[in-house]
Amino acid sequence: MTKDLYEILGVAEKSSPDELRKAYRNLAKKNHPDANPDDSAAEERFKRISDAYDILGNPEKREEYDLMRQRGHDPFSGNSSGEGFGDLSDILRSMFGGGGGGSYGGGRPASRGVSRVSIEIPFVTAAKGGTVQRVLQLPVVCRACGGVGGSGKETCGSCGGTGRISSGQGFFSTMHPCANCGGRGYTLKKKCATCSGAGEVQSNEKVSLRIPPGAGDGTTLRTSVGGSTVLVQLRIKKDRFFTRQGRDILCSVTVTASQVVLGSTLMVRTLDGKAKLRIKAGTQPGTVLRMRGKGVIHNGVTGDQLVTVVVKLPAELNDEQRLLWTEIKEAGF
Ligand SMILES: [Zn+2]
Ligand SMILES: [Zn+2]
Repeated sequence: MTKDLYEILGVAEKSSPDELRKAYRNLAKKNHPDANPDDSAAEERFKRISDAYDILGNPEKREEYDLMRQRGHDPFSGNSSGEGFGDLSDILRSMFGGGGGGSYGGGRPASRGVSRVSIEIPFVTAAKGGTVQRVLQLPVVCRACGGVGGSGKETCGSCGGTGRISSGQGFFSTMHPCANCGGRGYTLKKKCATCSGAGEVQSNEKVSLRIPPGAGDGTTLRTSVGGSTVLVQLRIKKDRFFTRQGRDILCSVTVTASQVVLGSTLMVRTLDGKAKLRIKAGTQPGTVLRMRGKGVIHNGVTGDQLVTVVVKLPAELNDEQRLLWTEIKEAGF
């Protein structure tokens, strides 16, 4: 499993931002959880691709990464130091997160790790698209310490503030996070009481999400809250009337025997409110009627609403009704 970001995106080191973006889009599309339901390997790939593009898609971060690579200190490929590196996001966090240590941080709020949450949205919102607002519990920079993690900040003596230590010689040397400062590049005299030195706290954040039309169950949206990336997985609530099949909306309507025998016009619920549905005389029970263009718009194509006609026959008859049905029977129907 490669940890080289260029290899993850399948691009050359000299590729342009455009080429990078294209490669990222193609891969993200192919490995999107939406397109690969219940495939945890694809989900993992999707995460790695997103993480890699997080770095390479940002000119500053890419420069930093390239520099380390050129020095032969690619923190992603070598693992000979035996440090507990495994998860790409751990490495990214140690490289770019952690409160502003090393050459990258420079006192700015650090870019944090990736949070994952799952929210439930109404069926119609998923089908039509729209905006939903949720309050989510997310890690944010600790206000008490500004993300530093405490007071009495001093440049780490072991790594000189880079957060990384090299071991081995020359070309074969590898970099690993400094054990003394945990890769942050500094040490603290006193830990922040609010965040216990973590530099971040859990906070209820109001998040507004744009749901694309035709979002499927399990679709993962990427958003940014207070400088940290949040992957939001959508769970779509069931609807009492509608179900979905690709772009088409399925439902059924229950009508009386006379409505199918004689024909009738119904008002049927659609994604855009009620619409007329004509039932022709002689329509058979179980017939599926198509309401064109009343389905889900996805990639510029609109689906239909498919309505199954269910006929409900009377279970009990009063005297008058019995007489009428008897007449029908005698007429041979
Ligand atoms: Zn704090
Ligand atoms: Zn250090």
